[in-house]
Order: sequence, then C-alpha cells, then structure tokens
Amino acid sequence: MHEMALAESVREIVEGTARANGAHRVSVVRLEIGRLSQVELAAMRFAFEVVQRGSMAEDARLEIVETDGTAWCMPCAQSVLVARRGDPCPACGSHQLQVTGGERMRVLDIEIQ
Ligand SMILES: [Zn+2]
Repeated sequence: MHEMALAESVREIVEGTARANGAHRVSVVRLEIGRLSQVELAAMRFAFEVVQRGSMAEDARLEIVETDGTAWCMPCAQSVLVARRGDPCPACGSHQLQVTGGERMRVLDIEIQ
C-alpha cells in the first residue's frame, strides 16, 4: 500500500509547516488528489490516521479535494476529461491520449492553532 509512504510525506510537510508557523496543533489538513494519481481515497484516509498518531496533526480533520483527470486526445486535437487511467477518449474512443492533469497529489493547505 503506497498510501502509507505518501501519508508519511504528508505528515512531514504538515509538521514542518506547522512548526515554521509556531503552531501547537493542526486542526485541518487539505489534500488535493488527482483522479489519475492512483491514490486510493479510503486507503489514504486510513494511512493518514495511522501516521498522524502522536503528531501535531493527531486530531486533524482530513479534507480531500479531488481534481479531474484531463488528457490531450491526438485524433480529436482537444483536451478531454478522463475518469480513470487507461480509459479511452470519451469523444472518439481513441486510446491515443496524453495525460495532462489530475496525476498528482499535494497538500493544499492546513489550518493550525
Ligand atoms: Zn478523442
């Protein structure tokens, strides 16, 4: 489950940011997760809970903002939405797609106290 490793790096970012801002507690952590990032939301929530234990973000609420997957379709010569990696172009059914967005996961922001 690679979500565990991802959650670890989220904790590092969150703790680093909180410390740099003189915070004692983190109340909300907002993550952006692309629909094509291959991060499973349920697994991510579970991993987050586990790795935040004993940290400043122990009681933090995890908010996940999902971003759409987008790709450039060669035959259509336009940008299209793709729900999942490996899906064909919704307009023409082609698999000649180049993913252009929705691939990453990042910490959007945190709320501290
Ligand atoms: Zn197309």
